[in-house]
Amino acid sequence: MGDYKHILLAADFSIHGEEVAKRAKDLADKYQAKLSVVHVVDNLPLTDAAYGPVIPFDLDLTEELMTAAKDRLAKLAESLGIADDRQCIAVGSPKLEIIRVAEENQVDLIVVGSHGRHGLALLLGSTANGVLHHAHCDVLAVRLKSE
Ligand code: AMP
Repeated sequence: MGDYKHILLAADFSIHGEEVAKRAKDLADKYQAKLSVVHVVDNLPLTDAAYGPVIPFDLDLTEELMTAAKDRLAKLAESLGIADDRQCIAVGSPKLEIIRVAEENQVDLIVVGSHGRHGLALLLGSTANGVLHHAHCDVLAVRLKSE
């Protein structure tokens, strides 16, 4: 295993996120690597026919979510010393977008939590699992345990 040059933290702003962020930051410091952060605004529920007219597809709502997400990401990035041009917000499927951003930025390590906002029911959360299976670079799934 060579030195990592560019590490991507996938941040979902869940309660365990701090632990995952800390691990990514420690690794970036250790390897003197660039550290970037991505958050994906998952817009799927807004277009899910199962919700019918209760939650219509609404572009403004997506934009509002984006604005709130950017704010949150900026705060997290500031605490980690990550500059504006290394903060990325995407919309769509978290697993696909995390992989796309990693490839576009020639990232060589993606850091995710083993679980996110969807709880600890599975051995590995679905986003973490998807990233692990499809990424072309190394993936670190930081093991998060229930309290
Ligand atoms: P999950 O597989 O949804 O339980 O989440 C596992 C990990 O995937 C989280 O700890 C995050 O590192 C990452 N992740 C999940 N959803 C997102 C998202 N919307 N944006 C960025 N990273 C995410």
